[in-house]
Amino acid sequence: MSDEKKSRRELVEELALLRRRVIELENLQENHRRVEEALRESEERFRFMAETTGDVLYQLRYDSMKYDYMSPSIVKLTGHSPEEIDAVGFRKLIVSIEDHGEKNLSMEAIAKNRQDGKTGEYHADYRVQTKSGEEKWLGDHSFPLRDSSGQVIGSVGILTDITRRKKMEAKLRELNRKLERLATLDGLTRVANRRSLDRFLDLEWRRTRRERAPMALILSDIDHFKLYNDTYGHLAGDDCLRAVATAIKECAKRPMDLVARYGGEEFAVVLPNTNADGAVHIAETICREVENLRVRHPESSTGEFLTLSCGVAAMVPREESTPEALVAAADEALYEAKKQGRNRVVLKDRGR
Ligand code: GH3
Ligand code: MG
Ligand code: MG
Repeated sequence: MSDEKKSRRELVEELALLRRRVIELENLQENHRRVEEALRESEERFRFMAETTGDVLYQLRYDSMKYDYMSPSIVKLTGHSPEEIDAVGFRKLIVSIEDHGEKNLSMEAIAKNRQDGKTGEYHADYRVQTKSGEEKWLGDHSFPLRDSSGQVIGSVGILTDITRRKKMEAKLRELNRKLERLATLDGLTRVANRRSLDRFLDLEWRRTRRERAPMALILSDIDHFKLYNDTYGHLAGDDCLRAVATAIKECAKRPMDLVARYGGEEFAVVLPNTNADGAVHIAETICREVENLRVRHPESSTGEFLTLSCGVAAMVPREESTPEALVAAADEALYEAKKQGRNRVVLKDRGR
């Protein structure tokens, strides 16, 4: 039917239909424009975020181990631009990798774990060398990148400069080590303190009991030390305690021996796997060495120089017994040494 033959009514209807189509098209175009604008805005927003934060966003492909994207701020972290990183390879900057518990995994190993489904979200710390040769730590927090079939083809992640945190952690570790040492050493004499003596005695007692081996203890006490302090002053007394502690340490040198400050002017020497004869020999050496320090103490009843007395006990630990038996025996022997005139060694040998 030609237009001339169409009725006026039909023509009006067709016109209305065409108008509706035009409006629909216009709407579609408007929608398209809005979507495009939103996309551009979101991309701009993403770029703004990626390029203004100090952190680095990246997308890595596992087939080529190359980056589809890396924020320009990588230059702040490593001195290299994203292009340079692509040319050199990020791997080349890495000195070592630490993740939870594991050390020095390669980037390939990380990629393989992820492709094998062993790793999803993942944290690792990279120690890197920057372009100027400086050492830095970068924290990596990444997620698997999948294709439309769900296959892992790479990763997306964020790199953060964690150098300050790592340095703080290293300092803290060092501080903790120092604290630990301080907690086990006597502040004045730098030999083991009472707490570590008790712990050591307990451990060694149980070990020698299992082995049915002997264990010995020397308790030594400086003679007339109150008089020494009264004569030369407390500071001179402190110097003297340090010198005596060093002398005793020189006499008990086997790796398992432990010298500790037992109390004010008293020292303990624990000698695992040592019998009475051996312990008496060491105690006599201690007495001699202390006298040889030739610390003047004319008020002493034992002679011109500072001396000490030693009580020795040795035993093979009995079943169900505690180290207190050894301490009590050495203490009795020390009391006896004082009573017999000081500057001497007395043995309290309980045998078994
Ligand atoms: P004895 O021969 O019977 O052992 O007599 P002593 O005077 O050594 O024994 P006493 O127990 O009467 O005195 C121990 C003294 O040790 C008392 C105190 O002045 C001194 N002393 C304890 N701890 C320290 C310390 O850390 N520094 C100094 N300078 N002196 C101390
Ligand atoms: Mg005393
Ligand atoms: Mg004393």
